[in-house]
Amino acid sequence: MTTIYRITWAFRGKMPASTYIDSDLGMPGIKCEGLPGCCGVTWSDATARIMTVPPPGTCNKYEFGACVPAEVFLKQAEKTRRALNLPGDYELLPGLNIGRLHIKCSKVTTLVMEWPALYGFIVREDLLNAIEKHGLTGFEKSEVVVKRTASMLLKPFPKFTEILVTGKGGWARTDPPLVIEPACPVCGRRPTDNKDYQNIELDESQWDGSDIFRFEHTFGGYIFVTQRWVDSIPESKFDGFEYESVGTMLATRRKFLR
Ligand SMILES: [Zn+2]
Repeated sequence: MTTIYRITWAFRGKMPASTYIDSDLGMPGIKCEGLPGCCGVTWSDATARIMTVPPPGTCNKYEFGACVPAEVFLKQAEKTRRALNLPGDYELLPGLNIGRLHIKCSKVTTLVMEWPALYGFIVREDLLNAIEKHGLTGFEKSEVVVKRTASMLLKPFPKFTEILVTGKGGWARTDPPLVIEPACPVCGRRPTDNKDYQNIELDESQWDGSDIFRFEHTFGGYIFVTQRWVDSIPESKFDGFEYESVGTMLATRRKFLR
């Protein structure tokens, strides 16, 4: 088993840029009721995003946080799969975002790493270069559309890249051990007991070897990194993030809890 760190955003008095998805298109949340086998829970998940921009009129627009009955959700999922040419078994989670990521920069933007949402983060060119120079693995790169305020128009164009975390850590080893409940047959949600776990460890037999990764389910919204990542990208050298050793304690509370 390997020691790991959770990577978190650190403001430290500096000014982050604001970010947004270029459309409000996406999946609504789900009220899992009205169909046989429904779990009865209303939920949404903000840990995933599809980068493709769907053709106009093919997806619905939902208010942030809007939740719909299971039947409506499943119809919308089918429509979205067809519109985006996704495989029939592609899992479209409630609350999934669709679209390109935009970042709005002003002259007071100073951080090299930004945290637009739970599914990944944005890095400035110098940080991306360091990550690539060290051959770190577990992510895909995605272009970010940079928008500048009037105060920035005469300045050099900043370059940002989104890091989408794809590395997989499998199921975390925890104390007490995780209890893995069966998933709801309609919405796919797994019940979780939201307790504080001690000593989160990576089970190397389930890990795909990535330097940056997520665990299944319970810590799905958190991003973890290996010692190799921490040694290659010291927090003293870049602004915008810090590492927390998770060998001692990690709270599982999440804002958009599944
Ligand atoms: Zn359900």
